Amino acid sequence: MKTLKHFLYQFLILALSMSLINCKGDPKKQSKLNMEEQSTITKTPYGKLPDGTVIDQYTLKNTNGMTVGIITYGGIITSWTAPNKEGVYEDVVLGYTQLEEYLNGSPYFGALIGRYGNRIAQAKFALDGKEYTLAVNDGPNHLHGGLKGFDKVVWNATQSKTDSGVSLVLRYLSAHMEEGYPGNLETTVTYTLTPNNVLEVEYQAITDQKTVVNLTQHSYFNLSADFSKPIVDHQISIDADSYLPVDETLIPTGEFAEVQNTPFDFRKAKTIGKDIDTDHDQLKKGLGYDHCWVLNHQNQGLRFAASAHHKKSGRLLEVYTDEPGMQFYTGNFLDGTLPNKQGGTYAHRTGFCLETQHYPDSPNQENFPSVILNPGETYTTKTIFKFSVK
Ligand code: BGC
Repeated sequence: MKTLKHFLYQFLILALSMSLINCKGDPKKQSKLNMEEQSTITKTPYGKLPDGTVIDQYTLKNTNGMTVGIITYGGIITSWTAPNKEGVYEDVVLGYTQLEEYLNGSPYFGALIGRYGNRIAQAKFALDGKEYTLAVNDGPNHLHGGLKGFDKVVWNATQSKTDSGVSLVLRYLSAHMEEGYPGNLETTVTYTLTPNNVLEVEYQAITDQKTVVNLTQHSYFNLSADFSKPIVDHQISIDADSYLPVDETLIPTGEFAEVQNTPFDFRKAKTIGKDIDTDHDQLKKGLGYDHCWVLNHQNQGLRFAASAHHKKSGRLLEVYTDEPGMQFYTGNFLDGTLPNKQGGTYAHRTGFCLETQHYPDSPNQENFPSVILNPGETYTTKTIFKFSVK
């Protein structure tokens, strides 16, 4: 009897250690083990503003090992790791390593953009006959909410855990006439990292006076995870039959142009580099792609908008949104002056943005979908970024 017990005990130990050894060598089995672990969200101090305000970094981590670092300054995604085809998680978003660098100047790396993502012509718009004047911060125009847009304010953060993942809820109250916009605007942005490598970004806002709102997220991606490499080899697809041509100052002319037979046709995936240097008036104006695509299926709510695939690493990013438009920007203004996270600098076209939003200059263009928010209404919009390998 004793020997049988002893034998069974030995067998159990052996079986257990074999399965552990197996799991170690097999990432699939290992990730099964990890599934029993929990997604986490941790808070660490990130730095201080010149006035002493403490900025925190929250790191969302799911059971696969995807991490998203978000700071309370600008709601900025400072890092975001995604797996390559070998299962190695690496940072795939441009940004800095220190708060000071963000304060010294950033082309909106990873930031939340508001109150109005993209440009407003001549930095002016009218509501009910009253004209509002905004900061002129991009040529003759207003860009990304002004001198101190939502990318430069401190957000109030709370964290939560649900069945669908870990969330960071960021809140900011933008006072009446802040940056020239009417109405006290209470904004909430929720970042949720799910167990299947999806980051959901949900925006909500309410106002006490008629105003305009267009919020977005300004992450620059480089799926190679090597920030010294240009992104021209990424394959992009965009579900859009038309785009908005712009004038010399990148304000839409009001025309909806068909993408067919133009370098703007991404309905079938093609590399960014394929047509970007074509002799095309619109590409000259944008110095590359810096345009808003008119997404298809606008009555369907949340639906597929775009994808980016980096063949060599296998990383695939898919974007889903309920927004009518998406600014596809190919980092044309990056010029090698800003320090990157890997010791070098961000050279021309080393990151691209997929900014889901309403169309630029909508407050001044009657044939564009409305961006007006009235008291009593709730602005809500959602965009999903999903990573996988292909
Ligand atoms: C705009 C670009 C701009 C970039 C950074 C993008 O959303 O479309 O023109 O240079 O943001 O400011």
